[in-house]
Amino acid sequence: MYRGRFAPSPTGPLHLGSLVAAAASFLDARAAGGVWLVRMEDLDTPRVQKGAADSILADLEHFGFTWDEPVLFQSTRLGAYRDALEKLKAEGMVYPCGCSRRDLLDERYPGTCAHGLPPGKEARAWRVRTSGEIAETVGDFVLLRADGIFAYQLAVVVDDAFQAITDVVRGADLLDSTPRQIYLQQLLGYPTPRYLHVPVVLAKDGQKLSKQTGATPLDRGRASELLWTALDFLLLGLPEDLRHAGVQELWAWAITAYAGPKSSCLADFGQPSS
Ligand code: GLU
Repeated sequence: MYRGRFAPSPTGPLHLGSLVAAAASFLDARAAGGVWLVRMEDLDTPRVQKGAADSILADLEHFGFTWDEPVLFQSTRLGAYRDALEKLKAEGMVYPCGCSRRDLLDERYPGTCAHGLPPGKEARAWRVRTSGEIAETVGDFVLLRADGIFAYQLAVVVDDAFQAITDVVRGADLLDSTPRQIYLQQLLGYPTPRYLHVPVVLAKDGQKLSKQTGATPLDRGRASELLWTALDFLLLGLPEDLRHAGVQELWAWAITAYAGPKSSCLADFGQPSS
């Protein structure tokens, strides 16, 4: 049974880029006759914005999204992340790290604390031991941050498994996280979902639209127009006569088109052309 999810961080209001990611995930689930969930990734408390979770959910409703189970808030799941970390500790797969940001100039963690804390250093974060390509690119990455907050990479993997997610559809900005997540799934004995990454919407300066850099929030008064734009971005080939359709009509058309053999360009990404 297909189970998909949209997992926003309540660090600000949704913008066009979030709408595209949510729409891609929703379409993929609905076209498959699957279950679609919303998970609120509200772990990073210093970055969480008051009221953002409520406004995100209200936006999603306004844009015609429906979800099939109660919203899961990651802030209620700390025990599960703790259990996963303990399991990895018991297996010797994680270690405490005493490096401060100043010690780490490189993107890749050089393994300074992998064989024990150097004298004079105190445990700050916990890192997972890596090998192969992940070791060469990001190195041993953080699962529990120095500020005591569980890292996104751990929480997302624990919750995708907990919610029995079969299909993750999200923005290509998260593509480089996927190998780390698959690696953690393997360590924790979880199944690996299928992944589809869709192109991200860029601002005029070429940067990804981001809640934190103040991308224009979605205007609920222009919901059908913005949904049109999002679906058009996904190359669904909307007919011109739907230009002024309401959100329900747009969704009905888009789900049929996405499920159908011809116009589902998105579903063809990554498939060999014949
Ligand atoms: N919470 C993450 C974000 O807003 C997305 C998580 C995911 O889809 O895996 O960027």
